[in-house]
Amino acid sequence: MSTDTTDTHTGGCLCGAVRYETSGTPHIVAHCHCEDCQRFGGAGHSTGAMFSEACVQYDGAVGEYTKLSENGNQVTRTFCAKCGSSLFGRNSGMQGFLTINLGTFDDSSPFAPQVTVFARNRKGWDVMDENLPAYEAQPAWKPDSGD
Ligand SMILES: [Zn+2]
Ligand SMILES: [Zn+2]
Repeated sequence: MSTDTTDTHTGGCLCGAVRYETSGTPHIVAHCHCEDCQRFGGAGHSTGAMFSEACVQYDGAVGEYTKLSENGNQVTRTFCAKCGSSLFGRNSGMQGFLTINLGTFDDSSPFAPQVTVFARNRKGWDVMDENLPAYEAQPAWKPDSGD
């Protein structure tokens, strides 16, 4: 990943109605195998880059769906109101941050996943990079802890 803090990245949904721009580098890029990500995305895991909310701007009509996570946090998923592409996630346990689904970037090649979470729910057919650190569930770290 680049360490240039003036980095700008753009992306959007499948139909083009929602477009976004980010500045800076993500706090973390993670694969998530939780059941909700599997159901929402229809795949074995989601992959997201977490940015400070202030570093993300978007345009276009979106829909939102909020559900309580296992540990009682409100997880809000944002998707294009027209084509349904899943774009962003927010977690009430991590205020001020927004996770962008990596596949929606125009060019996701500068990003590299650093960690896998909810590995306990990984399906046998969803083969992952064994070298990535994996957590059974959501680790206790906070993205602003400076680690
Ligand atoms: Zn769309
Ligand atoms: Zn998840």
